[in-house]
Amino acid sequence: MQYSDRILNTPSSFIRNILKVTEADDVISFAGGLPNPISFPLDDMHTSIDRAMKQHGAKLFQYASTQGYLPLRQYIANKYNRRYGLQIDADDILLTTGSQQALELLAKVLINKGDGIIIEEPGYLGAIQAFTLAEPTFYPVTLEQDGLNLEQLEQALQQPNVKFIYTVPNFQNPTGLTYSLEKRQQVYELIARHDVILVEDDPYGELRFEGEHLPYIGAGKLENSVLLGSFSKIVTPGMRLGFIITKNKELLQHIETAKQATDLHTNVFSQYVIADYLLNNDIEQHIQKIKDLYKAQSDAMLQAMATYFPAHVSYTKPEGGMFIWATMNDGRSAMDVFNKAMDQKVAFVPGNPFYVNPGNVNTMRLNYTNSTPEIIEEGIKRLGNIL
Ligand code: PMP
Repeated sequence: MQYSDRILNTPSSFIRNILKVTEADDVISFAGGLPNPISFPLDDMHTSIDRAMKQHGAKLFQYASTQGYLPLRQYIANKYNRRYGLQIDADDILLTTGSQQALELLAKVLINKGDGIIIEEPGYLGAIQAFTLAEPTFYPVTLEQDGLNLEQLEQALQQPNVKFIYTVPNFQNPTGLTYSLEKRQQVYELIARHDVILVEDDPYGELRFEGEHLPYIGAGKLENSVLLGSFSKIVTPGMRLGFIITKNKELLQHIETAKQATDLHTNVFSQYVIADYLLNNDIEQHIQKIKDLYKAQSDAMLQAMATYFPAHVSYTKPEGGMFIWATMNDGRSAMDVFNKAMDQKVAFVPGNPFYVNPGNVNTMRLNYTNSTPEIIEEGIKRLGNIL
C-alpha cells in the first residue's frame, strides 16, 4: 500500500510511544503530561451526569449543532469577558474535541502545501504533529526565557506565505516558560503590522500558582486573533472538550465547515455534563486545589534539582502549569541520558520531539504533576547521579 506523503512525513508521538515503558509500576516517571487525577471532580461530575440526564434526557444522546451547546459557549464568553476584558459573545466561540482538534482544524483551513507556520522552538509536540499533516513549511523561532526572540520573529515574518504564528503564552509545553508583559507587547506590535493570524493556545493559563495573570498577546485587540482554551487541565481531559475563540467570522465559518467534515460536532454528552458542572459548582475553589497541589510538586522538584543536579544543568522555574525544562550545558545528548535513566528506573522526555528540525538535543522535559514530593526527590536524585 502506498500511504500519503502527509502521513508518512508526520512523526508519531514519541511521548505516547514510550508511555508503555515509562509508566511501568517500578519506574519513577516525569515523562507523561497527565493532569493529576485530583483535578477530576468525580463526585460533582457524578451529580452533574445525573442532573443533566434528568433535565435533558435524549438530547444528551442525539446529534447536535457543529458550533456547540449554547449555554456552554455563553459561559465561556462571560468568563473570558470578565477575566480578560475580551468583548466576545457566544457566537465567537466554537467547541472542539479538545483544543488538539482546534490545532488540526486551523491547519486544514489555513495551510496549502508549503505555506508558512511560525512556531516556538522548542514547541508543543501535538501542534507540530497536527500542523505537519497539512504539509507546511515551519519557521521555528527560539523561545527565550521571556518569550519569542524578536529578531528571529521579524525575519520569519518576511518569509513568503506565512499564514499563522503559533504560541503558548502561559507555562508553555514543553518548557514551562511564560511570556513577560513587555515581550507580549513587543510581539503584538510586530505582528499587528503583518497580515497573519496569531494563535494563542492557552490550556494551562488558569493554573498559575505564582505571580500575576497577564493579558493575552493579541486576544481582545488583534483582529486576526485566535485564542484556544480547554477543560482538560481544570476539569477532565478524557471528555475531550476545548474551544476556539475568534472575532474573525469568516475564519470561524471555515473552521465550522472543516469540523463538519471531521466529526460533525463535539461529543454532546461531554458538553452538557461539563456545562452543568461549571454552572453548578465553585470552579475557582476546585482550580485552587489543583494549583496548591502543583505548586507543592513544582517546589519539590526545583528544590531537589538545586540539591542534586550538577552546576552545568540549567532549568526553568515555572509560575504555573505542569513542566520544567532542563538543559545540559556540557553538551550531553538527552537520548543518551534517557537510556541511562531508564536503566535506573526514572523517565523523562528527551527534548528531541519538540524541535521541528531535531539535531543532537541537550534538553529534557520533566513533568511534576504525577508524583508525590518524596518520589519526586528520589527520581531527581537518581537523575542527578547520572548527570
Ligand atoms: N495545547 C497544548 C500546549 C497542550 O499541552 C495540550 C495538551 N497536552 C493541548 C493543546 C491539547 O489539549 P486538549 O486537546 O486535551 O485540550
